[in-house]
Amino acid sequence: MTEMPNTPEKWAIQLTKAINQIHKLHGTEQFPVNVREVALEFSKQYYPTSRISDVVKSDSLSRGIEGTLQPGDNNEWAIIYRATGCQGRDNFTVAHELLHYLLHRDVAPKDGFFCSTEKVENWQFPIDIEREANRFAAFLLMPFDDFRTQIGNIPISLELIDHLANRYQVSRTATMLRWLEGCAKRAKLVYSIDDHISWHYCSKGLLKSSAYKNPKKVTLPVPEQSLIYTMGGGSSILHPLGVWAEEEEVQEISFSYVNNGLKIGVHLLIYPDEAIIDNSSPLCRIFDNDDESMMFDGHKLKW
Ligand SMILES: [Zn+2]
Repeated sequence: MTEMPNTPEKWAIQLTKAINQIHKLHGTEQFPVNVREVALEFSKQYYPTSRISDVVKSDSLSRGIEGTLQPGDNNEWAIIYRATGCQGRDNFTVAHELLHYLLHRDVAPKDGFFCSTEKVENWQFPIDIEREANRFAAFLLMPFDDFRTQIGNIPISLELIDHLANRYQVSRTATMLRWLEGCAKRAKLVYSIDDHISWHYCSKGLLKSSAYKNPKKVTLPVPEQSLIYTMGGGSSILHPLGVWAEEEEVQEISFSYVNNGLKIGVHLLIYPDEAIIDNSSPLCRIFDNDDESMMFDGHKLKW
């Protein structure tokens, strides 16, 4: 038996190559990835005696649970996901559970994995199996090469995010996080619940800069001037100094929605390209080698 991939990234690359070949053979469009079919077909191909036999939508998962990977009869597995009414979120959840199957099923709890909304959405988790599952989902649904081609030299905007989210059938949040992963700019995503900051995720470009050294405390409310208050569902604005950063203007692209009765705000913040690098910062010393620090999975950061 050939050796199987042992990381989320390697699995995503292997499956993407296989999916690409199938679509070339049949002359069909590769995107969006039909992740339900991928889970059923490739688990059968790679692990015929312990395949995924069902990928089903459910209205009866406990409140706050987005998806589960459960053991069934005959050594088979099932992915069950909550019907959110949002195809993009559902796809991401199924891909997240698929990675639990591919890499983690041998260490699964007796009843399987039960993944909450936070586990599926929060990228600030330390490196663990939930973070791995989210990275895999992003890589599988939005492969780097195609993502880069789509972006080209187009500046980030809500229109670009919506184009990408529509092409890959993923959520705006997942798209923004994928953009941040390959982003040489100084940017971060701030995720708020009921107008209070819950977590944030930084680009490498921002991690290198002094703006990250002095972030707003993550327990603070979203700044009142943030457009989430003034413009609602989705737009872009350039904030003056003192709104999101004391000494910098910040472009904000944001939107909000209601989930489980909570108001979720997603704020993509883009800082000026130039920042004073404070070399005494421990965070900066992590990135002594500029070439390596600005690489992402073997690619130089591209946008
Ligand atoms: Zn999970």
